Amino acid sequence: MIQAKGYAVENAKDRLKPYDFERRAPGPKDVQIEIAYCGVCHSDIHLARDEWGMSNYPMVPGHEIVGKVVAVGKEVSKFAVGDHAGVGCMVDSCRTCGSCHEGLEQFCENGMTLTYGSYEKDGKTLTQGGYSNVIVVDEDFTLRVDKRLDLAKAAPLLCAGITTYSPLRHWQIGPQHKVAVVGLGGLGHMALKFAKAFGAHVTQFTTSPHKVEDAKALGADEVILSKEAAQMQAAANRFDFILNTVSADIGYDQYLNCLKRDGTMVLVGLPEHGCEIHAAPLIFGRRSIAGSLIGGIPETQEMLDFCAEHGIGSDIEIIKADQINDAWERVINSDVKYRFVIDASSF
Ligand code: NAP
Ligand code: ZN
Ligand code: ZN
Repeated sequence: MIQAKGYAVENAKDRLKPYDFERRAPGPKDVQIEIAYCGVCHSDIHLARDEWGMSNYPMVPGHEIVGKVVAVGKEVSKFAVGDHAGVGCMVDSCRTCGSCHEGLEQFCENGMTLTYGSYEKDGKTLTQGGYSNVIVVDEDFTLRVDKRLDLAKAAPLLCAGITTYSPLRHWQIGPQHKVAVVGLGGLGHMALKFAKAFGAHVTQFTTSPHKVEDAKALGADEVILSKEAAQMQAAANRFDFILNTVSADIGYDQYLNCLKRDGTMVLVGLPEHGCEIHAAPLIFGRRSIAGSLIGGIPETQEMLDFCAEHGIGSDIEIIKADQINDAWERVINSDVKYRFVIDASSF
């Protein structure tokens, strides 16, 4: 076994505290990664506080993991010691169902294994995430991170990056589209960068007036303050595609009204509670609402390679382990610019 040091919560009401635990020694197909950085995703907070009713404890959160390969099993073919590698939200899946065969492991029909808070196939080992100094993962769920990418800025790509890249690609967003992004947080700022990189005209919706200038600097062609009724009225019927990244319970109807005829709003933000959707904004305009979940392993690799090619990374604030509890409060208060990344040498 390998000794690991990290931060964990023991239950849904707990604060993160230092936590020592063990990881398996690398098996023949495993890659051992010395973690350099781990991003702080809002999902870490939802899961630590059991807001989705599926959490297991003790929980070491973190699924935006990058670092250096320090050991490989003897059957590993894609990685060598010294490589940069990443791990996102999944570390295993059944590998036999239709979704797994299509490289859409996130929709594994037998249930994927999440990077933390999931039981491995033995049914008893709880997976533990990247708020720690070392991780051991099967090479099939380990991503190559090009050395052109700054490791700290690359960490958030493993969740915020792929979660926004995937729906933009699936709905084939390009220069012909007027796109809007709702919420300028970790996911939102990556959505903005990708939509611009794909050539779309991009509008950012935000509830935070102090983010207007940042949104423009990040590439937004326009910014709409969603709490200003006049600005929302003027936004009616304007967009082909809206990506909604909001983590809190807000209504969806006001944004559906901003879609053109036949437009689609995709939800990636996953608030604790559901909310009512009226049929009217869908019916009048033949509009659609859909959802999207992270992305499969092949597409995650494609996204990382795209970022290396185009010089795309996350805008980050680097923190130490003993600052994570405070960082979580700032995330909840929409006060992050635009992703916290933990320096794993501080565990
Ligand atoms: P985040 O950094 O906290 O960003 C969320 C943004 O939503 C905030 O910055 C804020 O933007 C807006 N917001 C927050 N509270 C709001 C409120 N009460 N009313 C209106 N707007 C509000 O979170 P994140 O890490 O990007 O994650 C966003 C959501 O996506 C979370 O629910 C997370 O669990 C989920 N997620 C889903 C997937 C997936 O596969 N579908 C993957 C990762 C994360 P403004 O200040 O601009 O308004
Ligand atoms: Zn995430
Ligand atoms: Zn499967």
